[in-house]
Amino acid sequence: MKNKIIILAIVLFLIILSFLIIDENEIVFECAENIQYQFEYQSDFIEPDIKAFCQKKTFRFIRIELEIEKSGEVDTSVLGKYSIVYKAKKDDQENEIALEFSVVDTTAPIITLVETEDYFTEYGSEYIEQGYSCFDNYDGEITDKVIREVKDDKVIYTVTDSNGNTATKEREIKYIDTTPPTISFDAPFTAIEVGGDYYVGFSAYDIKDGDLTKNVIITGEVDVMKVGIYTLSYVVSDNSGNVTSVERNVYVYKKQADVEHLNPTGKIVYLTFDDGPSRHTSRLLDILDKYNVKVTFFVIGKNNAYFDYVGKAYRKGHSIGNHTYSHNYSKIYSSVSAFYTDLNYNGELIFQQTGQYTKLIRFPGGTSNTVSKKYCKGIMSALANSVISNGYKYYDWNVSSGDGGNGNTNSVYNNVIKGIKKYNVSIVLQHDSKGYSVDAVERIILWGLSNGYTFLPLDLSSPTCAHRPNN
Ligand code: ZN
Repeated sequence: MKNKIIILAIVLFLIILSFLIIDENEIVFECAENIQYQFEYQSDFIEPDIKAFCQKKTFRFIRIELEIEKSGEVDTSVLGKYSIVYKAKKDDQENEIALEFSVVDTTAPIITLVETEDYFTEYGSEYIEQGYSCFDNYDGEITDKVIREVKDDKVIYTVTDSNGNTATKEREIKYIDTTPPTISFDAPFTAIEVGGDYYVGFSAYDIKDGDLTKNVIITGEVDVMKVGIYTLSYVVSDNSGNVTSVERNVYVYKKQADVEHLNPTGKIVYLTFDDGPSRHTSRLLDILDKYNVKVTFFVIGKNNAYFDYVGKAYRKGHSIGNHTYSHNYSKIYSSVSAFYTDLNYNGELIFQQTGQYTKLIRFPGGTSNTVSKKYCKGIMSALANSVISNGYKYYDWNVSSGDGGNGNTNSVYNNVIKGIKKYNVSIVLQHDSKGYSVDAVERIILWGLSNGYTFLPLDLSSPTCAHRPNN
């Protein structure tokens, strides 16, 4: 029995031995599970964890580790695909595996914004870019590729690098509102006939808060029963604390009585208008009607499409004076007779309009003009005497509105008011050929009526104002 066991063990051993002898060798590779196959541009390449073994095909645990020979490499500074071959040898046996790697750029560019503390944009104004830059790991500086979009209160910066990686950055625009609201009136001033209804149309608007009309606080009072100039104050503030304050004149006036019923006790103003009629005369006549104020027009006939207004003005009770037909200094001041030829021609045109030969004259440039020296020495002195002996009366002025040049309505108003304050009798020079001068008339009348002045048209009995001839 003991012998049998020994024999059986020997047989078994022989069988195993013979198996081992016929069991072949093979070369195998073992790769770690977590091998990194994709590398970011310019990152460090991580060698894969690979081992090679020579082992028995059946009895695999019988094995030895082999050295690995590697061919090929990965350059992470160049984008692309790479292949590395791993080889192992044992005696006359060898095996290899190839691994595929890639170097890619998936990194988005970086946008850097210049951000200044306390940088504010005025509400309603365009945001002024504070600056930005953009750098990409692959392309380098690509600031000029940044696309900038302003949307509501944000600036959105977007950029895409040459490998299709996009970056976005947002900037919030910080607004500040230092713009005060505006108060506007329906008309430049308000005139109310005594006892009439008092209404001032106005509105207030703010660039941020919109319509603020309801928030306007009005101080001051108007007594519509009493002639005078009243000042109202309009104040409004916006939600950002910006305040606007506007002063507003309200004129309470009494229409002037008809000339024949006037018994002036105060100061007298003769408003006179030269060089018309013009496209502004119709408007002027309406203003004068509103206050029943009569004035004097020194008209010229030359090429005058509006000459019908001479008749219209006359029938409304205004005085018409002769300002020569041509107003051409070189012609009218070349000789006394040339002056009369021109004057008389205009006189006929006026007669056709009014049925009257006017005896009121205003010399173009005034009696004191020096321009006439160029054409005839001593002509103004001669004419001043001559027209009087021919039954005319000439009128210069003591208050100039200064509307001759490129003035404006406010300066005309101020010049006239300043002038008429100085005199008991004022003859005011304006031109109804100038629209901005006509625009000052209503306020001049309102100021005068509120301050006890009487407006009259010139006639032969009026005091005159004669400049001394300078030629
Ligand atoms: Zn003139």
